[in-house]
Amino acid sequence: MNSQTGKPEPRRITILGSTGSVGESTVDIIQRNLSAYKVLALTANRNWEKLVQQAKYLSPQLVALADPAGYKKLSDALAGTDIRVVAGTEGLCEAASLDSDWVMAAIVGAAGLRPTLEAVKRGVVVALANKECLVSAGTLFMNAVAAHGATLLPVDSEHNAIFQVFDFKQKNKIKKIILTASGGPFLKWTESDMGAVTPAQAVAHPNWSMGAKISVDSATMMNKGLEVLEAHHLFGMPSEKIDIIVHPQSVVHSLVEYDDGSILAQLGSPDMRIPIAYTLGWPNRMSALSAPLDLTALGSLQFEAPDPVRFPALRLARSALQTGGAAPTILNAANEVAVERFLAGKSTFLDIASIVEKTLSRMPNQPPETLEDVMAVDAEARRIAGEIKIFGEAAE
Ligand code: NAD
Ligand code: MG
Repeated sequence: MNSQTGKPEPRRITILGSTGSVGESTVDIIQRNLSAYKVLALTANRNWEKLVQQAKYLSPQLVALADPAGYKKLSDALAGTDIRVVAGTEGLCEAASLDSDWVMAAIVGAAGLRPTLEAVKRGVVVALANKECLVSAGTLFMNAVAAHGATLLPVDSEHNAIFQVFDFKQKNKIKKIILTASGGPFLKWTESDMGAVTPAQAVAHPNWSMGAKISVDSATMMNKGLEVLEAHHLFGMPSEKIDIIVHPQSVVHSLVEYDDGSILAQLGSPDMRIPIAYTLGWPNRMSALSAPLDLTALGSLQFEAPDPVRFPALRLARSALQTGGAAPTILNAANEVAVERFLAGKSTFLDIASIVEKTLSRMPNQPPETLEDVMAVDAEARRIAGEIKIFGEAAE
């Protein structure tokens, strides 16, 4: 509280991955509530131009670019301002270490793990979009959250929905949690048609506008598999108490079923600004500035069981959770490489799950205990996944 104005002090914010889809939606809400927030740091991978635009508007203390190649251009563009420019993983960690009260973790992939853990170590509020942190290093990550007294708020729409209706005080009365899945753009496609899918088709999600990697994950349904692992760590639920149900309209964002037969759900338009605003305002509600949901215009909502045959990624993720140890780290890293190979036109859509499965079968399962162990397993899984021969290449 400011002693002179009597108004609350602005919340000090850091956005890791500010130039991405979740990052931009976060910036959008902040820009429309400028008096309530003070942005301390922004980070990006390569997109220095967008970082410059955001920095000129939000005047952070520091901006960090993961890829040092763009450092000079970024520095030159911000010359004459008070904004400090840093680069590389150390630069991202420096951004995460600044003294903000609230951090949006919206880097994509395991690349976000180190900087997000830096934020966790400060014991502040961490809004977590970067689900790969929990998939790759879930136990380690949740132990750090507990050890440092951080407040972890899920941004992923399903987990945010569950968070809103999950009675933490009566967890023993929760029968199961039910994650909804849109099913992605190929929900009704045959397996042979899915073999010819192009990257452009795979990133065109029917309901959500998202970054390329998560869009492909949604199309393979690996995204839902990753979300089972994410839910397991966030809510401490075993695999058998986490169900998946396909709901093509993406309006019911997830559900919690209690012993008495009650099922609580959170509904809303498919707009990430809603869960982001939930975490930005937390513990209070604030406007997300999104279009209201008109249920009468929708008329009806559909639900169906997922198809494990056309979407083998679901089985792979579930089995990695049950196997434990290094398996989730390997699954995540191999999937990141397989998605990159597909997006680069170097493998087919159906190769994604098979690259992940082969990588899992070729690596020993030595449970990682430290962050360095996780990074070593991650690097080895990337190496193996990158070398796996696929149909059309020379025989293995
Ligand atoms: P995106 O690709 O649009 O943006 C990713 C951000 O991370 C960008 O700012 C990019 O510059 C940065 N980045 C990429 N690679 C990096 C690296 N190696 N090092 C440092 N920074 C890097 O991704 P997105 O769709 O915004 O997703 C971000 C995270 O949020 C992902 O983990 C995703 O699964 C999760 N998520 C996204 C949505 C969504 O609607 N987009 C919904 C739920 C969860
Ligand atoms: Mg989700």
